[in-house]
Amino acid sequence: MSVNGNALRVTAIGIGYLGLTHAVCMADLGHQVLAIDVDQEKLARAAAGEVPFFEPGLEPLLRKNLEAGRLRFTGSFAEVADFGDVHFLCVGTPQGPGGEADLSYVQGAVDMLAPLLTRPCVVVGKSTVPVGTARQLLGRMRAAAPAGDQVDLVWNPEFLREGFAVQDTLFPDRIVLGVTREEAAAVVRQVYAAPEAEGGPVLVMDFETAELVKVAANAFLATKISFVNVMAEMCESAGADVVLLADALGYDKRIGHRFLGPGLGFGGGCLPKDIRALAASAGTLGVRSLTGLLSTVDTINQGRRNRVIEMARSAAGGGLSGVRVAVLGLAFKPHSDDIRDSPSLDVCGRLIAAGAVVTAHDPAATENAVRKLPGLRCAASVSAAARDADLVLHLTEWPEYQAIDPAALRETVARPVVIDARCALNAVQWRDAGWTVHVLGRPSEAPFSRKAGS
Ligand code: NAD
Repeated sequence: MSVNGNALRVTAIGIGYLGLTHAVCMADLGHQVLAIDVDQEKLARAAAGEVPFFEPGLEPLLRKNLEAGRLRFTGSFAEVADFGDVHFLCVGTPQGPGGEADLSYVQGAVDMLAPLLTRPCVVVGKSTVPVGTARQLLGRMRAAAPAGDQVDLVWNPEFLREGFAVQDTLFPDRIVLGVTREEAAAVVRQVYAAPEAEGGPVLVMDFETAELVKVAANAFLATKISFVNVMAEMCESAGADVVLLADALGYDKRIGHRFLGPGLGFGGGCLPKDIRALAASAGTLGVRSLTGLLSTVDTINQGRRNRVIEMARSAAGGGLSGVRVAVLGLAFKPHSDDIRDSPSLDVCGRLIAAGAVVTAHDPAATENAVRKLPGLRCAASVSAAARDADLVLHLTEWPEYQAIDPAALRETVARPVVIDARCALNAVQWRDAGWTVHVLGRPSEAPFSRKAGS
């Protein structure tokens, strides 16, 4: 994809997961891109062609665009303001103390940029924010910018998935533009001319709807996961099999298989904080039914972590003190090194607190995990993690764990007992190799083999 003659000068403010991916992809579309962050180490690594997090395919694209001279990094907001026709705001909006979104980074970035905006330009908000934020920011920005009303704001929420971030940025399912003036939407459409030409629908709307589309999408996905997990509880009580149930449900085209994987539930830097922030906004606006729905979704999700600890305790014979546990997977999902609100890391912390001796393996996230949970021991291979273990916990469904030879691993452990908290291992194969297998939401001796799932 290329924009050919329509290349624009764009900036990315904040080069975390979202901002660096966006900067690289915009450069790859042919635009001239200047990216900034307040983290000098991140800037230096990115400028040297190194992606400071795990994202398949991003590093080669970063290097390609650095070499082509389309992408640069700076620490100077004056340079950014001078350079850009379009400024993409990509800073974080973490969870605040009461569950609400912390907007201090977004406000901080706007406050740094706005006083330097002396000519017409469009600022494009990509961060996930509570409804009402864009309208407030527009006023704040215009009041501070020398160019005043010639500075426009578009809210363009981001839907990329970590692990598929390049593909999702270059070929988005939809491009949502919240605007107050159609002219601003036209400028942003120029930036996205190539993805639009590839068939990505551009949906222009008001600020408030655009802000809500993003959080509603995440709330819907979280609800779908918690729904299947509450059905897993029902299956456990009724002696049914949630994996077969979810598979059969997913064939209904109105439902679909995606986000219907039962197990340990969701985590990461987006879904948990976004549903809590939406619940907080709904509370402020008096929409109690939404607050109630999202709080139930969150409670069900947290309950999955408790359930795994309970299963571990009972598999270990009642207590966890001194029990050697091998954990497979630390990232909040496979194909990522992100451990923000990782269900696995939460479970590891609770196991350690209960006296278990935990040794974990993850293909990408051990460094981040140890930084967050210093008491955690990590091993470089699955067999090293499992050496002399009393219990193996499968907590993040990396594809390599599905390829484990259970017969070989059985030789390594002290007791061949596995808890599959992601319903992703081939239980029949593991049982045939002599393992006792416990799976969340499945009977202990599932008679039917699992259909490859979602
Ligand atoms: P992140 O924490 O990885 O990155 C944020 C970056 O912004 C950091 O590098 C930080 O140093 C920088 N920053 C903070 N203040 C700054 C300032 N004043 N000027 C310049 N840089 C500044 O966060 P992220 O995961 O990239 O998320 C960013 C936003 O995108 C959030 O609102 C998030 O909800 C949303 N989002 C994230 C994803 C995802 O998969 N990560 C997907 C969709 C939407």
